[in-house]
Amino acid sequence: MARYVVIDIGGTNLRSAVFDSTTQELLDIGRGPVENFLNNPGVPPGQLLDKLLQQVLGHIRAHAGRHPIAGVGISFPGPVNEQGEVHSAPTLWGSTLRSVPLGERLQRELDVPVAVMNDISAAAFRYQSWFNEDFGVITISSGIGNKVFAGGRLLLNHQGLGGELGHHKVVEGDNALPCDCGGHGHLGAVASGRGTERLARLWARREPTRFRDSALWRLTNGDAERIDTHAVVSSLQEGDALAGDVLAFGQAHLASCLAMLYNAIGVKRFVLIGGFCMALGERYLTGMQAQLARCDLFGLSETERQAMVRLGQNDDDHSLYGLGAYFLQSPQAGSRAA
Ligand SMILES: [Zn+2]
Repeated sequence: MARYVVIDIGGTNLRSAVFDSTTQELLDIGRGPVENFLNNPGVPPGQLLDKLLQQVLGHIRAHAGRHPIAGVGISFPGPVNEQGEVHSAPTLWGSTLRSVPLGERLQRELDVPVAVMNDISAAAFRYQSWFNEDFGVITISSGIGNKVFAGGRLLLNHQGLGGELGHHKVVEGDNALPCDCGGHGHLGAVASGRGTERLARLWARREPTRFRDSALWRLTNGDAERIDTHAVVSSLQEGDALAGDVLAFGQAHLASCLAMLYNAIGVKRFVLIGGFCMALGERYLTGMQAQLARCDLFGLSETERQAMVRLGQNDDDHSLYGLGAYFLQSPQAGSRAA
């Protein structure tokens, strides 16, 4: 038996737990607001990093005081290379702090192996046991992200890049909404939870008659500016036509991107996770299957086409379990894996 501290650093919250390799369960789950640039206004980047490191070390030492620890795994909301160096993390640090040697800084303080990886990479390790073939993980939440697991390893370049499908440009013209990255018409800008919400507002303003007949009208007292993700999800669950068209627009583009991945490199299984996708559950899944049915997927049978997407576990623990699964494979692993 071995136990590992696993920590999921998010843009808003930090969660930590102890993963037991025998029971494969999480113990001692802790959670709190993360030290980020929003709750530390005016703090210089170097100090911001120090505050985060102290927060992470605090969690590790608290767990290590109660359990014998064989390693520490950290998942991070930004690209990470094989040396545990963080490329950037806009949700945590805004546009400041790039190329941060997070793995090295933590390893200096600890006498057990430290592994740092991207959060969707960590999630991919959780789902590796679901498949005996190559697969991808797609997260659909406030943005869209992805990872592909092929030939027993994550497909990433030396900088840890290779999960930014959400920033692929898919739309031109009137529907090319702004993306959080500063671009326009990116997949995340029309198909993420936030993107779907913005697109619903745009279409409600553009089509006032349809809006008036829509569940979105009733849920927002007729104010298109008040359409939020909650209103979109509730309308979809009622079978609303306008909300359904908005979702289908985004899902058609996501399906087209998955079809491109399949046609390009042969990956034909995808796990869908993320808050927006999970809030809709089966409704999200059937919508994706309907859009994939319209895609050209070379050589794929009807059965394979229907099996192309499936929902992941409906919880927030993808990274924590994934880091645990990573240590099951590589018990002595240090700061690598991305
Ligand atoms: Zn973008």
